[in-house]
Amino acid sequence: TKPPVRVAVTGAAGAIGYALIFRVASGQMLGADHPVILHLIEVPQVEANLKGVKMELDDCAFPTLKGVVCTSDLEVGFGDCEYAMLVGAKPRGPGMERSDLLKDNGKIFTGQGKALSAAAKPSCKVLVVGNPANTNALIAAHNSKNIPFENFTAMTRLDHNRALTQIAQKAKCDVEDIDKFCVWGNHSPTMYPDLSHATIKGTPAKQVINDESWIKNEFYPTVQKRGAAVIDARKASSAASAANGALEHIRDWALGTGGKWTSMGVVSDDTYGLQKGLIYSYPVTCANGVWTKVTGLPVDQHSHDMMQHTLNELVQERDMVKDML
Ligand code: NDP
Repeated sequence: TKPPVRVAVTGAAGAIGYALIFRVASGQMLGADHPVILHLIEVPQVEANLKGVKMELDDCAFPTLKGVVCTSDLEVGFGDCEYAMLVGAKPRGPGMERSDLLKDNGKIFTGQGKALSAAAKPSCKVLVVGNPANTNALIAAHNSKNIPFENFTAMTRLDHNRALTQIAQKAKCDVEDIDKFCVWGNHSPTMYPDLSHATIKGTPAKQVINDESWIKNEFYPTVQKRGAAVIDARKASSAASAANGALEHIRDWALGTGGKWTSMGVVSDDTYGLQKGLIYSYPVTCANGVWTKVTGLPVDQHSHDMMQHTLNELVQERDMVKDML
């Protein structure tokens, strides 16, 4: 058994937090041989609620859980952490403009970046779930001088997983038969769920599916607007599936993907006709605790247009928060 690792979760008393924490504590993220100390972080108004969450964690008697810290102090919360899952964010209120949301959350993620830099391990791996996740991650990265930029990532794993099931149901295959699928760009309705490289048991997925109209008229909108569809049906936003995406993002980053592709929002470069220095979702593989972008893929005109469209949205978001970078 390895020494315990400290994992911080912000927004820990929220819906996603509640669906996430118990699975992390039980070893489902880092493995049954890797004990964890959970750092649960909340805003002062609901910090007291964390006591109840801690009681429930105690009552699970997880062998992998070696301690729980509950706090609203960010430097205590991120102290010596090797993983930080930034779930808490301000939701968009009635009548609020997108730019207001970006700015309000920007302030939160400026502070969190600074606190991570001051208190977390310099090797800390950071995942941003709270929306607008890509731009929040960009702000945190810029404000965290002691932690490499590459360690700041945004979650598109839920979008990726949503797409895998849509493909598997259409192609009547198992999700694990699918490889080389990826989501490009922003975690927003502009994301590009790209089937052009995907394979099903080694055969090109487009050939197996053989239905261009389904891809453009059903697959893209279903994946892009899945969050809203869940809210309509459940009368609450996705929480368990979002928590699962977050857990799998960190699990695969830490333990590896065994050569398979996954999707992560990571710092962009100027390949594929993109721009440097945004947090953009790419196809990646992970090994030895490091993510690596898949390079050298052919990009056809349709993919190029889709990738530029979501890039443009991220450029606009960045421009709205320029003074925080
Ligand atoms: P949730 O736990 O449901 O959601 C948390 C964040 O995850 C939101 O920003 C939400 O975005 C985002 N998210 C990303 N992907 C998804 C997805 N696929 N489905 C659903 N959500 C997604 O929110 P709650 O309100 O239940 O809990 C938030 C907690 O955060 C509260 O306990 C609050 O106190 C805390 N908080 C902390 C702050 C801080 O750290 N300073 C600031 C504000 C709140 P979206 O809103 O777009 O759904």
